[in-house]
Amino acid sequence: MTTFKAMVIEKTESGTKAALADFDEANLMDGDVTVRVEYSTVNYKDGLAITGKAPVVRRFPMIAGVDFAGTVEASSHPKWKAGDKVILNGWGLGETHLGAYAEKARVKGDWLVRLPAGISTRDAMAIGTAGYTAMLCVMALEKHGLTPASGPIAVTGAAGGVGSVAVAILSKLGFSVSATTGRPEQADYLKSLGASEIVERAALAGTPKPLAKERWAGGIDSVGSTTLANLLSMIRYGGAVAACGLAGGMDLPASVAPFILRGVCLLGIDSVMCPLPKREEAWKRLETDLDRQKLAAMTREIGLSELPEVAAAIVAGQVRGRVVVKIG
Ligand code: NDP
Repeated sequence: MTTFKAMVIEKTESGTKAALADFDEANLMDGDVTVRVEYSTVNYKDGLAITGKAPVVRRFPMIAGVDFAGTVEASSHPKWKAGDKVILNGWGLGETHLGAYAEKARVKGDWLVRLPAGISTRDAMAIGTAGYTAMLCVMALEKHGLTPASGPIAVTGAAGGVGSVAVAILSKLGFSVSATTGRPEQADYLKSLGASEIVERAALAGTPKPLAKERWAGGIDSVGSTTLANLLSMIRYGGAVAACGLAGGMDLPASVAPFILRGVCLLGIDSVMCPLPKREEAWKRLETDLDRQKLAAMTREIGLSELPEVAAAIVAGQVRGRVVVKIG
């Protein structure tokens, strides 16, 4: 029997339990590419899966972890051969398909993106799903027609993973960025990533008005709920918000006023089932549009054994920036 270390989630009588275990390679699920995982990362969804705070995991036992970067070990897929460096984000990894917190993963070759030449496997996971989603949000705002000349962009949950990467990318592209955060003590950190203004979370809290004073040309929101509703009410005529998250709640207590009176657009962002060409475009953009020194400054590294602690911290909104998990 060949085994490898993995963070395995089991169903228990009272819920679920995550623990490091030796996983038998024979129990890996079907797939045409086997990957030696080098790095993974901790996203909000990973926190939910490990703590069991939301029903992210759809199959038990499950290896947690929604994305990895590593090297192809074996492949029967025409696009991939042993030695290729690859990234996988989403596609149900860690939810319906055995995931990334393991020394080995067997997956569908169609899910993989080639690691851009200028990005290491570690940096790819410092970016991770959170960073690649931030890039998808920026691309959506650009597609809507927003440019630095349109006006400032608000980023909610700015000190978190999606938020930190979004601030860094937008500032590199020349946008003026308002970083909204519930952690004012992170103001210097957010300014070092390129935020031109720090806005207290409270400015976007409370019962949203249908329309408030027009403040931002656009927004990137990873919080949802009243935060997103307030943000929409403050977007300038013709602007747009790319919404990707629910760290503050799944609801949206908004009115249609921003849409029908200011032509504001709400752009939905999904990274999990996002088609391959858009993923490849996002990763290409990340190679050029994300300052690697800023990425390093927002990232810390942990080992597999520290996952439960960091998972609890991320769902409590206490993780700053990005966390990479060294595996191989
Ligand atoms: P993080 O925990 O790193 O960031 C979330 C941030 O939101 C926190 O750091 C905090 O920022 C803010 N926040 C947390 N709780 C609250 C609250 N109750 N009210 C207001 N703000 C709050 O998570 P990620 O960046 O990894 O993910 C962010 C969100 O995006 C998650 O909901 C995640 O599921 C979603 N997501 C969605 C994807 C998709 O495909 N649509 C892909 C990736 C992520 P601060 O302290 O600065 O206020």
